[in-house]
Amino acid sequence: MSPELLKNIAFLVYITSTICFILGLKRTTKVSTARSGNRLAAVGMLLAVVGTLIELGVIDDYRWIVGGMVAGGLIGGLMAKRVEMTEMPELVALLNGFGGASSALVALSVVWSEVVEVATAEQTVAELVTGGAASAVTIALSVIIGSITLTGSVIALLKLKEKLNKGAPIMLPARHMINAVLLLAAVGGIGYLGFVAVGPDDVVVAALAVTAVSLVLGVLLVIPIGGADMPVVVSLLNSYSGIAAAMAGFVINNPLLIVVGATVGAAGLILTQIMCVAMNRSLLNVLVGGFGANEGADLGDQEYHSVTSCGPEEAAMVLDAAESVIIIPGYGLAVAQAQHTCRELADEMIKRGTKVTYAIHPVAGRMPGHMNVLLAEADVPYEQLIEMDQINGEFKNTDAVIVVGANDVVNPANTDPKSPIYGMPILNAHEARSVFIIKRSLSPGYAGIKNELFDYPNAMMVYGDAKKIMQQMTTELKEL
Ligand code: NDP
Repeated sequence: MSPELLKNIAFLVYITSTICFILGLKRTTKVSTARSGNRLAAVGMLLAVVGTLIELGVIDDYRWIVGGMVAGGLIGGLMAKRVEMTEMPELVALLNGFGGASSALVALSVVWSEVVEVATAEQTVAELVTGGAASAVTIALSVIIGSITLTGSVIALLKLKEKLNKGAPIMLPARHMINAVLLLAAVGGIGYLGFVAVGPDDVVVAALAVTAVSLVLGVLLVIPIGGADMPVVVSLLNSYSGIAAAMAGFVINNPLLIVVGATVGAAGLILTQIMCVAMNRSLLNVLVGGFGANEGADLGDQEYHSVTSCGPEEAAMVLDAAESVIIIPGYGLAVAQAQHTCRELADEMIKRGTKVTYAIHPVAGRMPGHMNVLLAEADVPYEQLIEMDQINGEFKNTDAVIVVGANDVVNPANTDPKSPIYGMPILNAHEARSVFIIKRSLSPGYAGIKNELFDYPNAMMVYGDAKKIMQQMTTELKEL
């Protein structure tokens, strides 16, 4: 087959692959179609590999390609099989890091094959690479963004696992100044690498220096940000990995990589924006870091004055008489792995004729859609899951609310201008007739502040692990 024909076939395969990615992404926006969306995207990825092989034509040695596919496929398959639902953000962080690293490596390999191996005298990278000056800049940007994504994602992963300063922000003195200097150094590197005529050895040194500076920058940009803000950071890094991939696409002139990279870049950015709006915080506020530390801030009275508590039996008696119950899941539900127990409790109430729904706050948990995914795993019907805007008007007509391991998302302190969560939309649990709050103590949630709901006269704490308490509630209900 002529190279021209191979190129055309590969192009058709790339277009089909792009369509699979776009439709797959669209389907992941709804829980009911998310699985098939994921499968469609996986088919898109397979087609991307097939298209690349067709475009390459017959080559002498397939060992590296086959070896890479087998090793990568095995590692990816094993990780996806083993990952717990609560560890999903960690897995996504790691995959973003891999994406960033691949783009940086593709760009570095072009520097190697088109510059270092070819240059005979002192020449600029822009003179040597196909695509000229634009390509030289794109290569450098690909290395910088890809490397920042790699180390930023690794730090995000360690923070999510609470392996780095227990997930708390690490605030270096003069960190903004250090970051600015490193950023300038990286930009200077672009100029030097692309447009100063040097010998091949100096190109290698410059490329490695730009990579090293960017790797350090990735670490420094993420360490001041608190563990629970990591989903926003992971989403932003996801966007970076897309941009780096699109750049790499320009470098090797691959239209699929450009389109898919740009799609990932845009999707990551939109998700980041959605999360920031749901927390009523600007992206800058998240990226500057330090949220939840609250050191020296005047937060007003942080003591509790009129907290009441009860046991699972007393709660079960109220639930037995309730005609309508709203369950509000939060991060503690995921920690306790109590999604199945939660469904059993709901089923028991539904059996008694109670109307049960779940109120889903957009940032409940530690990643977007965390609660939807967790409850879907326990086969909770999708139609019982109601988004915040739709359900907030219902609380005042509801007999009982069960808050399971949620804290910030039900804190009425959002109306206090001094509060770090001022303006964050909340679920109006406090408007219901009775509110049962299942958690282990009065300790604060991620925002690190007192929850005013706990002091409300209609609120009762049910202390203990979410799974155990809900098991006891179900048993008590069955006995009534
Ligand atoms: P919070 O972190 O505010 O509260 C979770 C509560 O769960 C804790 O107060 C804890 O209390 C309780 N808990 C922990 N383990 C258990 C257990 N085994 N059994 C019972 N309770 C338990 O979570 P929310 O979901 O209410 O709020 C999410 C927070 O994360 C918000 O501040 C949000 O802005 C932030 N965030 C969310 C993002 C997202 O995409 N979802 C992105 C970025 C930030 P105790 O220790 O007393 O048990």
